[in-house]
Amino acid sequence: MDEVKVLLSEKDLPNAWYNIIPRLSKPPAPALNPKTKEPVKPEDLAPIFPESLIQQEMSPEPWIEIPQEVREIYKLWRPTPLRRARNLEKALKTPARIYFKDESVSPPGSHKPNTAVAQAYYNKKAGITRLSTETGAGQWGSALSFACKLFDLKCTVYMVKVSYEQKPFRKSLMHIWGGEVFPSPTDRTRSGREILAKDPDTPGSLGIAISEAVEDAATHEDTNYALGSVLNHVLLHQTVIGLEAKKQLELIEEKPDVLIGCVGGGSNFAGFIFPFVGDIMEGKLEAEVIGVEPTSCPTLTKGAYTYDFGDTAGLTPLLLMHTLGHSFSPPAIHAGGLRYHGDAPLLCQVVKDGLVKPRAYPQNPCFEAAVLFAQTEGIIPAPETSHAIKGAIDEALKCKETGEEKVIVFCFSGHGHFDLASYDAFLEGKLQDYEYPEEKIKESLKVLEHFPKFPTGI
Ligand SMILES: *Cc1c(COP(=O)(O)O)cnc(C)c1O
Repeated sequence: MDEVKVLLSEKDLPNAWYNIIPRLSKPPAPALNPKTKEPVKPEDLAPIFPESLIQQEMSPEPWIEIPQEVREIYKLWRPTPLRRARNLEKALKTPARIYFKDESVSPPGSHKPNTAVAQAYYNKKAGITRLSTETGAGQWGSALSFACKLFDLKCTVYMVKVSYEQKPFRKSLMHIWGGEVFPSPTDRTRSGREILAKDPDTPGSLGIAISEAVEDAATHEDTNYALGSVLNHVLLHQTVIGLEAKKQLELIEEKPDVLIGCVGGGSNFAGFIFPFVGDIMEGKLEAEVIGVEPTSCPTLTKGAYTYDFGDTAGLTPLLLMHTLGHSFSPPAIHAGGLRYHGDAPLLCQVVKDGLVKPRAYPQNPCFEAAVLFAQTEGIIPAPETSHAIKGAIDEALKCKETGEEKVIVFCFSGHGHFDLASYDAFLEGKLQDYEYPEEKIKESLKVLEHFPKFPTGI
């Protein structure tokens, strides 16, 4: 058990994704058509998604085969290492053993290509020639541009305006991989034009950019939409993370006591924990599972569990999830990927079932944790990832008090090489902590009062 890096060979790359849907105690509540409020039918989604992904969205199959073409591309960076953070353990003087699943080794530097590659593949197979999408901090836009290039698809990215201005290098990545990028809101879509008419200087938001990308796809025959988080098929593709991590822990005969990840829309965390959560539900594993979010966007810890739109304009289906309200506009914290008003319905369901405990931290302590990590383990974490690290460090410090030799495993969702300006701001003491005020949350939840509540019997 002295391994610092636990590596798998290419032949250990999973053959199938792990579908949690048929393993849940109750079937997930259906997504609702935004107009009729009836459960969405596959044909409602057909204008923006290929049939294969729509099927995966509701599939009852416990395992879904990973197409060979997708596996071949995964091999560019997968299987990813599971690393032991020995230097961090020493710095903390903890008896705990800390491991992290390192998703930062992918070409765009995060877990996001795990689903981008799969989505590009299925859209290509369906005869689509262009994908449209939104991006906040630029992680998803760069992952999808990369994936589209590999399958010879065009890629149009609506990038939240404030990030477009603050993160020029993510934009460069998208350009290098052949994507076209527009600062959102744009005048290319009706939703964009309406927002600009009301507020020409708006910094934009993920919800607005989603409205634009969905509208672009819905109004162009050759174009589909790709979402980087939240939806069931996205979480499904991300389960390669957890499946590999499980195998790696088995190889070194470790059993996790605590599993931790950061939560934006929930895809890296869910992809990491679902295979373990399955074992917990079957009584094969006892572990604490902790999802960490920012206090400035406290979806799981303070949001309501109710139906809401996925976007600001109300074009997407209604999803049953923990939400702060689709009009919620979080403060511009540096972990841009964690600034989403809702969360993946499947993740929310396991939180609701008590299998996952949510927790929130302000950004300064997270950056502090990230810098300690960089100074001990060498890798500079993405600001999003720093939330998982802070969670892991707090758990390791608890072990120091109790003397417990727990095994703590967290998902290292990405590196922060394109977020160095936010590290500068932190080191110069310029970062503000922000706790979203209760009254403001109540205010943005008010619009949901007349939305369907979660269906009885489900
Ligand atoms: C996008 C992103 C996140 C947040 O998205 P999830 O869907 O919650 O995983 C977290 N970490 C990194 C590095 C990201 O790029």
